[in-house]
Amino acid sequence: MEKIQNYINGELVAPIDGQYIDNYEPATGKVYSRIPESNHQDLQQAVNACKQAQKEWANLASEQRSILLMKLADAIENASEELAKAEAIDNGKPIALARAVDSYRSAANIRFFANAATQFSSEAHDMGAVGVNYTLRQPIGIVGCISPWNLPLYLFTWKIAPALASGNVVIAKPSEITPMTAYIFSRLCIEAGIPKGVINILHGSGQSIGSPLVEHPDVKAISFTGGSATGRAIASKIAPMLKKYSLELGGKNPALIFEDSCNTEQDFDKTVSEVARLAFSNQGQICLCGSRLYIERKLYPRFKVALVKSINALKIGDPLNEETQHGALVSQAHFNKVYSYIELAEQEGGTIIAGGNKVKLSGRCEQGYFLQPTIIEGLTIDCRVNQEEIFGPVCTIQPFDSDEEVLGYANGTEYGLAASVWSSNVSRCHQMSSQLEFGIVWINSWLLRDLRTPFGGVKSSGVGREGGLEAMRFFTEAKNVCIKY
Ligand code: NAD
Repeated sequence: MEKIQNYINGELVAPIDGQYIDNYEPATGKVYSRIPESNHQDLQQAVNACKQAQKEWANLASEQRSILLMKLADAIENASEELAKAEAIDNGKPIALARAVDSYRSAANIRFFANAATQFSSEAHDMGAVGVNYTLRQPIGIVGCISPWNLPLYLFTWKIAPALASGNVVIAKPSEITPMTAYIFSRLCIEAGIPKGVINILHGSGQSIGSPLVEHPDVKAISFTGGSATGRAIASKIAPMLKKYSLELGGKNPALIFEDSCNTEQDFDKTVSEVARLAFSNQGQICLCGSRLYIERKLYPRFKVALVKSINALKIGDPLNEETQHGALVSQAHFNKVYSYIELAEQEGGTIIAGGNKVKLSGRCEQGYFLQPTIIEGLTIDCRVNQEEIFGPVCTIQPFDSDEEVLGYANGTEYGLAASVWSSNVSRCHQMSSQLEFGIVWINSWLLRDLRTPFGGVKSSGVGREGGLEAMRFFTEAKNVCIKY
């Protein structure tokens, strides 16, 4: 059985004390590889490697950093099929999705920030005859990047790329639930000629290696993506240490669907299909997925029927089959959590109008964690199913009568990551966008991404922003230099 290795100082190495944990394939429910349960000793080795590499990397001309990162992006692109297959096996997502989304974006992330390295500039503030200020944007030093399991290499590279582009050295920890593509990525870093110690990858659980990483005094900033409870725990430890941190956390995202989004049959079909996609892509395991669908009452009956028909037609199957549209949930524990919300929905007075059941496939996927895409009707905003993040293929639908009413529902949870508004009325779309308490609002679209834009949430969905210049600024310290003439 394959043993994954850590990547420290440019080499693939076993954990110092030889401890490993199991890695499961969600589609089969079987252990298929083992991953290091790294600890503070492995961390110290990575910190030592970072210290050796730090100065040279920070002093490298930005063009040189950019060239190396471009080579890394090319290496990811060349390995895209291997990465897509590994992601489908490790995470349970359909291979077609892994290819189009995960492999593609991982290379795009690195390439985007390779370009950013050469375009990043700082400000000057002219004081006329008196003097001038200029701002140096300097790398922070050693930074920690921690990512979740839902978009494994996609989110891992989304953090590592700006950290490196802006001259930092990195210790990165992928999710212990989906470690495989980060392991392949280590090999690609070697192939691309990334200097030793510039990127170090430590595998293991949050308790064993995540927590020591955030608390190590030589690690000066933490970029974290994961659940809100973990984000709070991390903040409570590192805020008193006065470290810089960025937290991308959970969501409970609404979609606001107005009748005027469906003025023609073509628009109706398009909106139904996009809403199905926003609720159920990656088995609903994208932080940006909509899980609360609000539909204007006049449109509600027709839309509901079409939506149910559309999701009942999704092909559930082995993630490695090209035709599969709906794969496995990531783990048994996560399956149990998601399923418990379906049971809770019934206790809270909801009616399941689509799905709701475990799916038993035959052959190699007999023991896999497959759950039907599920839609629940008849729940109020204050029930737990509408308040808590489920992070699976389960959403609720509810009719509304007015703009004020739906705005109240949309803003009525502790989360504020992403909302979408579906309407042909530009004024309404703008009014809604300005009043929605979310970091991201999509109009008549979902997951349409431009990597230059600020990315992140408000309320319990996070602190800080990623993306474009926001990320380059996060990973640098601004130093003002004032010259008096
Ligand atoms: P999680 O919080 O359980 O784990 C995320 C990462 O943190 C993992 O690598 C884990 O090992 C590590 N970790 C756990 N405890 C830690 C600790 N005490 N100190 C340091 N590291 C620790 O989240 P998850 O279950 O892997 O991912 C799902 C969550 O991520 C959902 O809530 C989802 O909404 C969120 N998410 C948010 C975004 C975003 O951009 N806002 C994107 C993707 C996922």
